[in-house]
Amino acid sequence: MSVLIATDLVKRYQLEAQTVEALRGVSLRIEAGEYVAILGASGSGKSTLLQLLGGIDTPTSGSLEILGTRIDALPDRELTRLRLTKLGFVFQRFHLLPVLTARENVELPMSEAGVKKAERQARARELLAYVGLGHREGHRATQLSGGEMQRVAIARALANAPALLLADEPTGELDAATGADIMALFRRLNADGTTLVVVTHDESLAAEARRVVRMRDGSIVSDERRG
Ligand code: ADP
Ligand code: MG
Repeated sequence: MSVLIATDLVKRYQLEAQTVEALRGVSLRIEAGEYVAILGASGSGKSTLLQLLGGIDTPTSGSLEILGTRIDALPDRELTRLRLTKLGFVFQRFHLLPVLTARENVELPMSEAGVKKAERQARARELLAYVGLGHREGHRATQLSGGEMQRVAIARALANAPALLLADEPTGELDAATGADIMALFRRLNADGTTLVVVTHDESLAAEARRVVRMRDGSIVSDERRG
């Protein structure tokens, strides 16, 4: 079973008199274990596509199947549940809750999924150790560097063992060396079995992935696998 099948996704934004066609019919199939980079210039529709793939936003037309479920037809509650338990998100600006500690941030999606306290604390510790932040679990988000915040965000995205992790410009706020560390972490995640879709405008980051999907003006213009 494919992790994700997107068929003919169209997304239009209506701004007063102007219509923006952010996606013009995008089809994409992603299998378990893949590491896919979505590469394109700013404004090419990458974030729009990622938001649709993650069920954060809905397409104007087209269909989307995640793990065999048509999500365009799902009631909100079930969609929320599917997002929480099957998908992980990593954002350019981390989106951590500043008043919570690193560990509490990682626990949050597990709390929402009903995981008991002792279990989620233990798993949060394990995940923070996995991303190299075992020594920072008690720091608040505001007491961490950008690279550390992104590691916490990645640990949080992994909290409920998602079938698919989606990341939008995850190194966009980081310096080159810290960004390279984060990309090395993604590579390890994929080697350990996580299916990844990483959006970037940076050719050198896309070179990490085993499959590169290029976008221009709301369309996929190439889709190459290697290795
Ligand atoms: P990228 O992530 O590749 O930079 P986006 O998906 O953010 O591109 O944007 C694609 C196009 O859609 C751009 O022209 C952008 O201005 C437009 N767009 C994105 N989000 C919205 C929105 N909420 N309302 C109106 N237009 C939008
Ligand atoms: Mg974007």
